[in-house]
This record gives sequence, C-alpha cells and structure tokens, in this order.
Amino acid sequence: MKLSEDTPLHHQARLRAALEQSGHRLTEQRAAVYRFLVSTDTHPTAEDVHQGVRRSLPAISLATVYKSLETFVGSGLALKLNYSDGSSRYDGRTDPHHHARCAVCGEVRDVPGSLPLQNVPGLHLAGDFQVTGYRLELTGVCGACA
Ligand SMILES: [Zn+2]
Ligand SMILES: [Zn+2]
Repeated sequence: MKLSEDTPLHHQARLRAALEQSGHRLTEQRAAVYRFLVSTDTHPTAEDVHQGVRRSLPAISLATVYKSLETFVGSGLALKLNYSDGSSRYDGRTDPHHHARCAVCGEVRDVPGSLPLQNVPGLHLAGDFQVTGYRLELTGVCGACA
C-alpha cells in the first residue's frame, strides 16, 4: 500500500523521525496529541487540544499536552501562534501559509494562497535587513460573529 500524505501511518513516521532527530522519544501521549493536532484546522489552544485528546486518553494532563505541543514546536512539527492578549494557538500545518483571525471570538482560519516574496509591496525598503520571508495575518469578523 502506498502511503499518502494524510494516512495516520505517514504522520506517525514523520513524528517519530522528527522527535528522534531532536532527542525525544515517541510516546503514546505525544502520538495522541500530534494525531489530534494534524486532524484539525481550527488552530486549537492547549486547552482545546487537551479536551480533544482526553476522549482517547482520559488520564492525560493539560501539562503533558502543553509540554508535548512545545516539543513539537521545537522540533519543527508544529507552529505556535502568539497573540497580544496572551493567548496562544497551535498549528499542525507547517508549510508557509497565512491566517485570518476573528477579532471577536479569536477563531483562526487558514488563508489559501500567498504572494511570492518579490511581489510583497515595500519589502525592498528594508534597508540592510535581508528579508527571507513574511507572515501575514488578516483581521476581521467571522460569519458567526458578524
Ligand atoms: Zn468570530
Ligand atoms: Zn494555519
């Protein structure tokens, strides 16, 4: 059987390789946290992930979920989105992409598409700063909050 990008086995192999490369073991708890994170595009908070993972691992603590998420971020397996209100969300999608965030409920969605670096207006004004990428966050109001 050929493994496609989305099979659980593919995720597990990627997870194990990336964890071992950064000196971490693949545990059942880390595997469950990762499975949940890559199964959703809602950019969950650590508490959201905890709620979700408890359905399959009732004994897992929020602290373990939080530490697993931070390990994934450090191993390049997940992104952490920090907001000025002190909240953080996690993203199992690590390819370059942009986000739209609702200013009312805080929901974060992926935005399809991106601009090539040379087409982003104003980047040539960066002086001696060498630009290697950019992050874009669209802000607004989601359908449910409008
Ligand atoms: Zn909203
Ligand atoms: Zn995302």
